This record gives sequence, C-alpha cells and structure tokens, in this order.
Amino acid sequence: MQSTMMDGDLTITDILRRGARVYPDSRVVSCEGEGSRTGTFAQVADRAGRLAGALKRLGIQPGDRVGTLSWNHQEHLEAYFAIPCMGAVLHTLNLRLDPEQLAYVINHAEDRIVLVDASLVPMLAAIRPKLTTVERFILVGRGDASALGEGVLDYEELLTGESPDYPWPEIPEKTAAAMCYTTGTTGAPKGVVYSHRSICLHSLAEWGAFSLKEADRALVIVPMFHVNAWGIPYTAYMLGADLLMPGRFLQPEPLCRFIQAEKPTFAAGVPTIWQGVLQWIEAHPADLSSMQTIICGGSAVPRSLMERFEKDHGLRIIQAWGMTETSPIGAVAIPPRGIPAEEEMDWRSKTGRVVAGVQLRIVDDSGTEQPWDGESVGEIEVRGPWITGAYFKDPAPDKFHDGWLRTGDVGCVDNRGFIQITDRSKDVIKSGGEWISSVALETLLIAHPDVLDAAVIAVPDARWDERPLASVVLKPGSSTGPEELRAFIAGQVAKFWVPERWAVVAEIPKTSVGKYDKKVLRAMYADGKLPAVELGAAQRR
Ligand code: AMP
Repeated sequence: MQSTMMDGDLTITDILRRGARVYPDSRVVSCEGEGSRTGTFAQVADRAGRLAGALKRLGIQPGDRVGTLSWNHQEHLEAYFAIPCMGAVLHTLNLRLDPEQLAYVINHAEDRIVLVDASLVPMLAAIRPKLTTVERFILVGRGDASALGEGVLDYEELLTGESPDYPWPEIPEKTAAAMCYTTGTTGAPKGVVYSHRSICLHSLAEWGAFSLKEADRALVIVPMFHVNAWGIPYTAYMLGADLLMPGRFLQPEPLCRFIQAEKPTFAAGVPTIWQGVLQWIEAHPADLSSMQTIICGGSAVPRSLMERFEKDHGLRIIQAWGMTETSPIGAVAIPPRGIPAEEEMDWRSKTGRVVAGVQLRIVDDSGTEQPWDGESVGEIEVRGPWITGAYFKDPAPDKFHDGWLRTGDVGCVDNRGFIQITDRSKDVIKSGGEWISSVALETLLIAHPDVLDAAVIAVPDARWDERPLASVVLKPGSSTGPEELRAFIAGQVAKFWVPERWAVVAEIPKTSVGKYDKKVLRAMYADGKLPAVELGAAQRR
C-alpha cells in the first residue's frame, strides 16, 4: 500500500529560504580580533544569491566542486549556502593540512575555483604549481594575492555586480551538496560527500540532540572545514539561532574576550580548545557564564575537564561522538532520566548515547555482533541516512561491512545505548592477551593537577607483546615525575594496566584537527626520540 504523503525533496535551499524569511534578523557575528562585524540572516541570503550568480558567470556547473580555504566567518557561511544551492559542491579545505595533503585533496576533489581568505594566500601560493584543476581563486578579505598569479578575483567586487535574486534550481535531494576529507592519520585523506538530504536530516537530528532554539547564540569554534563545523551552521540557520564566528582568533585570550562580548548560550569545540580556555580562566578570571551548553567531542573528553568546568566555573560540557563519515552526529552523552545528581557525571563522561536516526552495533574480530551489555568489546559499526556508504573515488572495501560503516573505534555499548569508546582500533594496546584502554589511562592522568596533557601508546615488549607507554606534559614549574604519576593511577586501575614506561615531553603531537597523533609518538619511540624512562617491571593481573 502506498502512503499518501507528498514526495518533497529535502534541500539546503529550503533551509536558506526559510531562514531568510522567518528569521531575517537573526545574526552572524564575525570576530575581528579587537572588535567584530555583524550581519543578518537576510543579508547572508542576499549575498549567497549574489555569490551563486558570480560563480555561475565564472562557469560553475551543477556538480562542480568549489573549494573554500577559510576561517569561520560570515563569508564562509555565504559559501555554505551559495555553492550547494546552485547545485555545485562545497569542498571545505582543512587549513591545517600539510602542503602535500592540501594539494592532494584539491586535485583529488577536482576543485575548479577556490575561495581563499587573504591571511591564507601564502599557503595556497606555496602549492599553486601542483594544483591541476583550479582555474580561479576568489580572494575573501583585504590582502595581497599576487603570489597566486594573474586573475585573482575579489569577493566583494564580484558580489557587487550580481543580483541577490538568484533563480535557485530545483535539486533532487540526493544530489551532492558538500564534501570533507577525513583527517585520518593513516594513508591518504578520504573524501566524504554529503547530500542535501543527509545535511537536512542531520540538521533536524542535531536540533533535537542539542536542544537548540531560536533564542540561542551558537559559538562555532569547531572549524567550518571540520565536518561542516559539526553541522552547526546549517542547524542554527534552520532554527534561527545567532551564529558567532571566531575567525582566526582561537587562542584562549581573544576567545574569552569574544565570549564575554557576545554572550553565547551554546558553544562547540574539541577538548584541546576547552583545556586552553580552562587554563586561561584559572589565571585570568572571566565571566563565561552565558554558555549554558558546551558541546565537546572529536576525541575523548577527560572527565576532569568536565568536572573542573562545572565545579569551578558553573559551565556544563556535554560530550558528543561522531566522525567525518557520520556528518558527524552519532552519539550525545545526555544522562538518562531519573539519574541522581551525584551519578550524572558518570553518564556524561561516557562517549555518548546513540542518537535517533543512527543504527549502531559492535562486532568482534570475527565480525560477530556483540550484546549491548556494557562489557562486550568490539568495533563500532554504524549505518543511517547521514552515514557515508562509500568514499569519493576510493572504494576502500575494508571500511565497510555488509552495508555498515566500520568506524575504527573500539568500545562497548550498554543496554540503554550508551557507548564507551576505549580506543581507535589501530591504537589498541594488547598486553599479554588482555586489552588496556589508552583512553581510560589518558583520562586518569589528565586528572592529576600537575598534568596538562597525556597520551598513551602501545610499544613492543619482549614478554607481554605490548605494553603501554605514557607521554605526559607537565605544568610549568611542576616537580611531579613519573614515579608520582605511576603511584597516582596505581590504585585506580588493574595492576597490569599501570605503565612502567614514561616520557615527559614538551607537547603531545596533534593532528590537523587537534587529536593525539599516536602514529608520530610511536615513530618517535621507535627512532629513540622519545625521552622514555622505565620504572621496573610490569605487574601481573
Ligand atoms: P574525525 O573524522 O576527524 O572527526 O574523527 C573521528 C574520530 O574521532 C572518531 O572515529 C573517534 O575516534 C574520534 N572521536 C570523536 N568524538 C569522540 C569522543 N567523544 N570520544 C572519543 N573519540 C572520539
């Protein structure tokens, strides 16, 4: 039997039209360091129409890729709408990639035009000779773009010459709208292509999962090149919440100034950002109390970070989990109802509860599904309408399993759908046949008052196959050493988990989106470049 519902397509154009019409006065505030500039949703729609007109005049056809190498600001939001709504594909470029990788992703995606911020011109100029598909650059902001060669166009001049009333085409909902490359630490980055439908459904899911509303002011610290800033720009425009864009002012001092001036009610960023903010406000008290919800994810959120934000500053961090491949929302750690206040943090420090719309299972090494009992460990696999089913021009069959995406994350799920990730599969530590969770050890170490950062890797061991090695960054002036840290965690985990190899380092190597780069740590250890010390033998179980 057929349903009687209409077959309307879900498109970003509808988000744009409705946002501009229903919330014309909602704001987009772009930080400029000392000050900021403010636009409205109506202006964003007007200027997105002009940008689409200019891109069409420059020859952009449906399906063509247009790259953006930009910080978070209003012009980037205009591109977020103009490019997909004209039928082309927005390709947000990660400005922290190394030059080789940046050239690779631009060529692999076959970007025809790249919009580039004036401050980022040198990055593109350095790889210009390697770019095989780019025909034009459009300069956003004031600056010298001569290093890019002839024919660079000016964003504002282009917009001035166009009409705001672009005749947006009808777009089938499964049309490609945007793409991001993974920032994986192994192999070449892989392209994930989002559709109009996947972005619309993801925005609706996020609206509910984060309980956002029109009265909110959303501070988007997560970069717009990192999984579409976790989808927040589209979600906020859909429901009329103001967007606060920090631009390139991501250091704790200007960020705290921006927060105090603009009073966001909601903010999203990776743990590294919030660690930096915490350190800053401990030394330079600031009133950040407007932020009712802070979404934090992208890597495990240390419980101690959440506790210190909450106890010392009254700020509530909510952990979320996702990936480039999952658009990214997959799980959000909101405690189940009826939980006593003193147990709340136990739930919030789990990785997250699977969100509606995402199907999830865990499978063991043989591919057998494991129960949701909070104990059985396996690789997490997901599927759903905003989960990628393939990579762009890259079959990667090992990343999929009978129609499910293999996330590469290892963990367990309890009977209420809460995930606890213990490791990335490639970072797992197997010692004498038993698993040791590097994530759990890192979380404990970071809770030590003298530890600023910590990462635990597996290193080869003649007797146990593998043992954990803990690299720690200590607070300046601290006299704590590996012995004390070892004693600190000894009572909190099984004896055989406690690392005997330690390295005190100046910083933990991080990836382009701020995750621990354990591949680099492992290579440093193998090359004898990690100042590791050994404190006696491993303890048996
Ligand atoms: P990316 O595609 O760069 O966003 O990386 C996705 C990966 O980040 C996931 O597969 C996880 O390994 C990791 N990740 C994201 N959120 C969390 C979280 N809350 N806890 C632990 N790992 C996370």
